[in-house]
Amino acid sequence: AAEEGFDVEDVEGAIEEAGHGPLPVLAVVGRPNVGKSTLVNRIIGRREAVVEDKPGVTRDRVTYEAEWAGRRFKVVDTGGWEQDVLGIDASVAAQAEYAIEAADAVVFVVDAKVGATDTDEAVVRLLRKAGKPVVLCANKVDGQSGEADAAYLWSLGLGEPHPVSALHGRGTGDMLDSVLEALPEAPEQSFGTAVGGPRRIALIGRPNVGKSSLLNKVANEERVVVNELAGTTRDPVDELIELGGVTWKFVDTAGIRKRVHLQQGADYYASLRTAAAVEKAEVAVILIDASESISVQDQRIVTMAVEAGRAIVVAYNKWDTLDEERRYYLEREIETELAQVAWAPRVNVSARTGRHMEKLVPAIETALEGWETRVPTGRLNAFLGELVSAHPHPVRGGKQPRILFGTQAGTKPPRFVLFASGFIEAGYRRFIERRLREEFGFDGTPIHISVRVRE
Ligand code: GDP
Ligand code: GDP
Repeated sequence: AAEEGFDVEDVEGAIEEAGHGPLPVLAVVGRPNVGKSTLVNRIIGRREAVVEDKPGVTRDRVTYEAEWAGRRFKVVDTGGWEQDVLGIDASVAAQAEYAIEAADAVVFVVDAKVGATDTDEAVVRLLRKAGKPVVLCANKVDGQSGEADAAYLWSLGLGEPHPVSALHGRGTGDMLDSVLEALPEAPEQSFGTAVGGPRRIALIGRPNVGKSSLLNKVANEERVVVNELAGTTRDPVDELIELGGVTWKFVDTAGIRKRVHLQQGADYYASLRTAAAVEKAEVAVILIDASESISVQDQRIVTMAVEAGRAIVVAYNKWDTLDEERRYYLEREIETELAQVAWAPRVNVSARTGRHMEKLVPAIETALEGWETRVPTGRLNAFLGELVSAHPHPVRGGKQPRILFGTQAGTKPPRFVLFASGFIEAGYRRFIERRLREEFGFDGTPIHISVRVRE
């Protein structure tokens, strides 16, 4: 590295940064208007990101990356909830439940000026049941005089209330210090406890694409092995199902079964549920209704899984209903609308007739394999050397930036760091990604490529 003009420490730092595993997840929950979104904005360090939403506009983004004191984590914001859908208690409870389920730690936000309400107490019961670490945020303490209000919240039995003004930033630093203490280094939900255990599948897709039908089909035909959480006080959410001789864990199946029926506000709820399921899973099986045009909502779900860095399989359902014309248009739509997952294994299924159910498992296995692939550094550099000499980067301003060397910093999904002598254009980065995929497979997995440029 040194002779290429990179300092060894820079190289090691870049590899460590790029190679970080999955991030721990923090959920921010509480009643409407207590200041959750304001707090999330504060935590992620962006003003407009969350609160600018216009009323009536669906928010589909629910997870954000954040960093505090050099540690990175994800934040799940539940502030986009429309309050009057189910009645306030039920809706707060339902959203909190999903967020808590997916989280490694929870910030529970209470409006200190109002004090604890019955709805707050209901959330406290959920938090107790879940047993996750909780940091209590007594919000809207904009000045010294509000501190007494915060102290009243000891009565919730969740430990010390942290007096905070999400709006002005007062107290948020101390609260975030407590959050870091509560958060594990790596997410336990997604991976830590899964070592050697069943692989985790999230079956996701917009409403009515056939998720529950598909789950029922595979569960009935292959029998449900055991319901892990049955008999506990919690609702069953993760289900063990044997497929192709292997036991898999389907996460968040309670959501798939539509325990809660919603009329309006369902979009945000569905986004939260999807984000939660994706966080808990290693592989996302994205179900698309092939009988209908691929929609923006389908694309959002795909984006969510890609951004979360999960292994991905795309299943086109309701294949039994397709005529020749629809099949023709579907292929065109897939090319234009779902280009971002052109690398994902694809299965054309029918939950109704059972068509191609047996192809699901091999597709999932392929995706997981790609997701876990590690390319030895020697092989990678031999490949990069050939690629760079056969297809050099275009000359810009009389200079020709070159990829000097590279390494794979991590897996799940594969993450690469490339070291270059100058700025590498987006088009050339995409070219490298395409060639990496051709050379090493990576079917069914997003890959991350970061480029470091020599100073
Ligand atoms: P959410 O529904 O829980 O996400 O709440 P929002 O973040 O949308 O905030 C609800 C209202 O409370 C907004 O008008 C915010 O400006 C206000 N708010 C949020 N945090 C604070 C705070 O620390 N102090 C004061 N005074 N107002 C706040
Ligand atoms: P979910 O909201 O994604 O869980 O979707 P459901 O499983 O509830 O399915 C929505 C509707 O599509 C139901 O009426 C199902 O009977 C129907 N459906 C699901 N899968 C298929 C399929 O493969 N073929 C056909 N023709 N209909 C299906």
